[in-house]
Parts: sequence; structure tokens; C-alpha cells
Amino acid sequence: APGGEHAGIRAATLQTTLTDSPKPIVPKEKLVFGHTFSDHMLAIEWTAGGGWGRPQIKPYGPLQLDPSCSVFHYAFECFEGLKAYRDAQGKLRLFRPDRNMARLNNSAARLHLPQVDGAEVIECIKELLRVDKRWVPEGQGYSLYLRPTLISTENTLGVHRANSAMLYVITSPCGPYFPTGFKAVSLYCDETNVRAWPGGVGNRKLGANYAPSIGPQAEAESKGYQQVLWTIGEDHELMEVGTMNLFVLWRNDAGELELVTPPLDGTILPGVTRESILELARGWGEFAVSERKVSMKQVAKASNEGRLLEVFGAGTACVVTPVHRIHFQGRDYDIPLDPAHPESQAGPIAARIYKTLLAIQYGDTPSKWSVVV
Ligand code: PMP
Repeated sequence: APGGEHAGIRAATLQTTLTDSPKPIVPKEKLVFGHTFSDHMLAIEWTAGGGWGRPQIKPYGPLQLDPSCSVFHYAFECFEGLKAYRDAQGKLRLFRPDRNMARLNNSAARLHLPQVDGAEVIECIKELLRVDKRWVPEGQGYSLYLRPTLISTENTLGVHRANSAMLYVITSPCGPYFPTGFKAVSLYCDETNVRAWPGGVGNRKLGANYAPSIGPQAEAESKGYQQVLWTIGEDHELMEVGTMNLFVLWRNDAGELELVTPPLDGTILPGVTRESILELARGWGEFAVSERKVSMKQVAKASNEGRLLEVFGAGTACVVTPVHRIHFQGRDYDIPLDPAHPESQAGPIAARIYKTLLAIQYGDTPSKWSVVV
């Protein structure tokens, strides 16, 4: 029987209770990211004494938690974000879900929340997707966003390790990030607020990292820029952009064509898209691909010297988001993106990465990264 002191998650014991009031599907043209939720959710409870309980698929609905629950007071939670895609044959696919499970465990470790067996959780998620299959919209760019969330459920104000927790997964149908083609964004390089720092938790997907970004984001918007460029240190080393990893394509100081992204030094979220782009670009072998520190000063200098070719953010939601302008120390630096096509909203490398990754995610290009449900 399941149970015992360190019971793991066992997908084979999953129990399903179907809703008796399925909701109408929202027409896919009307979808706004994160606003619509499917009929069911996955929930797995954990206690320090009993380990993980039996996974449950049940109707989507409110949680009942005590106001003293430590999730509300100390941000005792971590989460993940990944998508399910419907391929041309109608099969559902996940993109590298093992990477999300590994990251979830790394996030949970810092909070001393329980570890999960990623393979078992993926099996439970697959079953949730089978149950809610009608919620996965059809078409390129459409997907069902999955939000695994791990919270403390302990009702106590003491700041100490949680003795009870819950992993749940909710799902939200979403449309393409760029419904009418790429739209490049402008960035405001924030010289005051820092997103993460050495020894901190920037490399973990904790809710605690996100709420404090809203003030700086609102400030950037009030100055007329769309997203925050996060930097750190006196030289303003690049970190991330909004909630995306950051890539720069340039001709570097040595005159070499290079795609560069900040290294995973503990301050950067290890994005699944980031990792995938690095692997793809290294496989192409057409330019240098580096994980190394780059300062905003260097980017500004490259821009002044005409060496800055492309800047883009990378993440699950958008795949890539091209950047056309960066504000730094009182000046706007414009990025040409695609000088051959001035009207283009994406540089050729960003556009190529986007196309390549989409083809893998939707199963058009066979890849070990795409996992059939
Ligand atoms: N950085 C931050 C801060 C994020 O929240 C995300 C989204 N998870 C990313 C980068 C991109 O990660 P991924 O490619 O795994 O979506």
C-alpha cells in the first residue's frame, strides 16, 4: 500500500474524479494569457510523516487554506511553466518536461519543500492532459500552458520548514504570443533595482522572485519602455529581460560573430528555452556561442561601433522576443534587428531560432525533446 515515511509519488495510484459541469471552451481568438482554466487539476498532498499521497485529478476549483498558512506569509512556494502542443496528427506533446521537473526540485530544495519523482509527475500530467484534451487549442502558436505549483500547506506563523505541502497542476489554454508576426520590444535598463544576486535565489523559480519585479516593471512602463533589463554590479552586467533569458548577437571585441548569454552563476534562471537555443546554435556551428558575462557598457560600445546585431529574450511563453531599443544611462540604443528588411520586427537569427523550436514543439521536426502524451 502507498504511504510510509518517505512515500514517493506513484502515478499508478492516480485517482480521477471528473467534473459534472464541464465549462464551455473559450473560442481560441478570445484567449488572453493566463485567464482561462481547463475543467480539471492535478493535486498531490504531502506530509512530513507520510510522504506523498495518492495523486488526484479533480474538478478545477478553489483551494481551502487557513489564513495562517505559511504560503501566504513567507512566499513558501515555487512553480513551473511549460506547454502542451497539439501536433498535425492531433497528438499532444510536451517540450522537455524533464527539465521543468529538475528545476522544480532545485527550487523546492531551497525552500526545504519535498522533492518529487519527475517521471511520475510527468505521467500524472499526461493523464491530466488526456482528461482535458479538448482544452488544448489547435494551430501553430496555440498551446495549453501548464502551471505546476508546489506550496506549503502548513498552518503556522513560525518561520520553519513545512510539515505539509501540496503539488498541484492547473492548465490554461493560450494563443500565440505574436498573433500578427513578431513585435519587438523596448527595454529600460534598471540601474537601481536588482532582480537577483550571488547567493540569492535568482536561479530558482520561486514566487518570491516575481512579486518584487512588478514595481520596477511599472516604473519602466511609466517611462515609456515595455520591459525591464535586469543588470547587476558597477559595470551593469546583463542578467535577464522581464521574465526571459537574454541573448545578444554581435561582432565581439575580437571581431568574431558571437551569440552570447549570461552564464548560470546562480543569479540567472536556467531557462529550458535558453538551454535549447544554446544546443541548437552550437549544433549549427555558424558562429561562436558563449555563456559568459557581458556588461551593458560593452553592449553600448558595440552599438556605438555598429557591432550590435540582435538582442532577444527567450522563454516558454514567447520562444523569442526581439528587442529593438535599450535605454541605458539617459540614452536610447537602437538595435537594427534586420537591416536588409527595416520593417522586420525580428533579426534573422531570432526568427530562425523561433521557427526551429516551433517545428520541434509541434512535432513537425522529429526530436527527442518532444514527448508524446
Ligand atoms: N527567466 C525568468 C525569470 C523566467 O521567469 C522564465 C520563465 N520560466 C525564463 C527566464 C525562461 O525560462 P523557460 O525557457 O524555462 O520558460
